[in-house]
Amino acid sequence: MTDQSKIQGIDVTDIAEQFGTPLYIYDGEQLDRNYRQICGPLHPSVEILYSLKANPNLSVCSVLGGAGAGAEVSSAAELAVARKAGIAPADTIFLGPGKSEEEIAAALTGGVYALICESYGELDLINKVAETVGVIAPVALRVNPQEAARGAGLRMGGKPRQFGIDEGLLMSDPDLAERYHAIRLMGVHAYLGTRILDEDMVVENTTQILGMARRLSGRLNFPLEMVDFGGGVGVSYFSGENDPDVEVLTRGVAAAVGEFRQHHPETRVFMELGRFLTATAGLYVTRVRYVKESMGQRFAVTDGGTNHHMAAVGIGSFAKRNFPMSVLNRSQEPRDQRWNVTGPLCTPNDTLGKNIDFPEVRVGDLIGVHRSGAYGPTASPTRFLSHGYPAEVLVHQGTPLLVHERESVDDILRRQPVHKVLTTKRNQGN
Ligand SMILES: *Cc1c(COP(=O)(O)O)cnc(C)c1O
Repeated sequence: MTDQSKIQGIDVTDIAEQFGTPLYIYDGEQLDRNYRQICGPLHPSVEILYSLKANPNLSVCSVLGGAGAGAEVSSAAELAVARKAGIAPADTIFLGPGKSEEEIAAALTGGVYALICESYGELDLINKVAETVGVIAPVALRVNPQEAARGAGLRMGGKPRQFGIDEGLLMSDPDLAERYHAIRLMGVHAYLGTRILDEDMVVENTTQILGMARRLSGRLNFPLEMVDFGGGVGVSYFSGENDPDVEVLTRGVAAAVGEFRQHHPETRVFMELGRFLTATAGLYVTRVRYVKESMGQRFAVTDGGTNHHMAAVGIGSFAKRNFPMSVLNRSQEPRDQRWNVTGPLCTPNDTLGKNIDFPEVRVGDLIGVHRSGAYGPTASPTRFLSHGYPAEVLVHQGTPLLVHERESVDDILRRQPVHKVLTTKRNQGN
């Protein structure tokens, strides 16, 4: 096991001293390794798109873009971040069930490789915006597959959803492409779920989606310039879970894509990855402000909590499951006590860890939540109790760089206009 209290040889306690807590620390080398681990065996048959949703930090995105990833974006801001990170529009796709007219226009004028269309209503709007902008819009259909993938436990697709268009509807609409004069139908997209730990299921999904894409392009009579088979590759967080076997996964995906390529040698094939690329590269660091006991249980109250790391609450499970955690400045000491780790919020839900085996915790200690690089602060209620967005640091080639400033009280007040009619002077006149 690698020493979890160091990143690229730098003591995390030193980084916390320099930048303060609470903060997120990202390891640039780990981001790079994660990308290469999947891209290496699949390139050049499959191109990897980074799903910015998992971690839209500009510098994180730059590292992954620099490694070779394209981008899958779902908002005007994510599109701008991907551009600023140096990812070419030709390697960027725009997706999402509720795109605004402005976002569609920005994607078209920005020259994205494909708009991933999620409904008939959106087809109408894309066609209209494309006419106004004066372009032919490259559009791939996001499809909700008819058949659910059968795989260990999880069943994805084949159920009513707000995402994509039902496969059955599309199959019974063979002249869809002809109705939209400003749209070039050019591809198929499907995404069947997140945090998939079973490598065989990823392979099965891939095979199924590639087959579906061929059927659809035949039936609707459009050339398959691209297929995006999603991904949803997970990482383990909780006890009893295992990381997917990436070697088996890439071998299976390569075989499925190889078979597909015999019929479609020119098609660009994409895999989207968010969590897999970023999760293991991130560490959330909090400092212990108080230690206390209540009814026989020990509590370490820290300066950051679920306002920055909602995922650590473990939504969706009855019993609280803990992310991997450690006392960063006591990594050598035996874990012979039971602790609860809670944050500064005034709600019992603000619990990062419950009944964790820790060494004795003292005020000033640093507690780290590992594997926290995906769905961290941007997927958390950072304004809850107005503590604001945490600082983010990227360790790049041995140097820690501040890549997102901590939000200040002024930042929080600045966006709230003061209206004269609402200002009362309570202490005057009585
Ligand atoms: C969220 C999302 C992703 C990223 O999912 P991960 O599980 O983080 O890899 C990819 N594609 C689509 C369409 C998504 O909604």
